[in-house]
Amino acid sequence: MIIILSQDFDQQELDNLITWLENMGLEIHMSEGANTTIMGLVGDTSAVDINLLNALDCVADVKRIQEPFKKANRKFHPQDTVISLGADGAAKIGGGNFMVIAGPCSVESPEQISQIAAAVKDSGAQALRGGAFKPRTSPYAFQGMQADGIELLLEARKNTGLPIVTEIMDLNQLEFFDEVDVIQVGARNMQNFVLLRELGKIKKPILLKRGFAATIEELLMSAEYLMAGGNEEVILCERGVRTFEPLTRNTLDLSAIPIIKELSHLPVVVDPSHATGVARYVRPMSLAAVAAGADGLMVEVHNSPKTALCDGQQSITPLQFDSLAKDIAAMRVAIGQCNEGI
Ligand code: PEP
Ligand code: MN
Repeated sequence: MIIILSQDFDQQELDNLITWLENMGLEIHMSEGANTTIMGLVGDTSAVDINLLNALDCVADVKRIQEPFKKANRKFHPQDTVISLGADGAAKIGGGNFMVIAGPCSVESPEQISQIAAAVKDSGAQALRGGAFKPRTSPYAFQGMQADGIELLLEARKNTGLPIVTEIMDLNQLEFFDEVDVIQVGARNMQNFVLLRELGKIKKPILLKRGFAATIEELLMSAEYLMAGGNEEVILCERGVRTFEPLTRNTLDLSAIPIIKELSHLPVVVDPSHATGVARYVRPMSLAAVAAGADGLMVEVHNSPKTALCDGQQSITPLQFDSLAKDIAAMRVAIGQCNEGI
């Protein structure tokens, strides 16, 4: 339920209202916009008398939120959520701030990650990705460098200043993520509710990828798990869903971008690499995602795609990334999102 407060509400009356609602066991979230202040109520609101609320001077309107997701709902929080990364908070996503996250599928060696990190930074990426704990379909495939991979990402961050994004697969890995800037929850774990609940208790942005058979509402419900625990810094990631089409690894659901942005205030990034599974489709899908209103992109970049230990077929080279970054900036200008550069 949301309560829209009247323009010049009396603070004492509002305080009394808050106390009354809290005594009913409801959690209250205030969202102050330029013109209106909205109060979001979470919990069992069935006993709340809407007519009684409407009769109060401090209340302009009361609405029930029909959707099962509340904290992730734009009705609850009309302004875009802006998430800042890194020690200085300079890298931002959401609310008109566009973020390009780039890097290899997996961290493979000190040289590999340091070279790619330096290259993507030079091209304008604002964050570095790299898998250390890798969810692989085959148990015989490279499983990632694990804790050593995170150490190498931290080293790359030290050298480039880029915040790092890396995936957690299980709660027993959490101890290695203390210094990580953004924890990624992969498609395979989007509905690992035990993991989501625990990550909801920590204060660190989470990049939540859409499961390959998940609806948009299910993605938002998974975000709700994180937010219900108090972690409101959730970045949603559209990375394609599985369809009958064999010519791409997944089918990129571009319509998810405007739909999520309508339903939720959370930023949305698009991963064209896992969505298509083909390096040459990364550029067109990246530009399409920008045009469709994405708040960011996550792109796999490898300095030697042919010898990559994971996902070489969908990785673009640093040179191709450099050219893509320029095209992204031009697309943002073309759609009026910014005046210059990324
Ligand atoms: C990844 O980003 O490294 C990854 C494994 O992607 P997804 O979870 O989308 O398959
Ligand atoms: Mn990958």
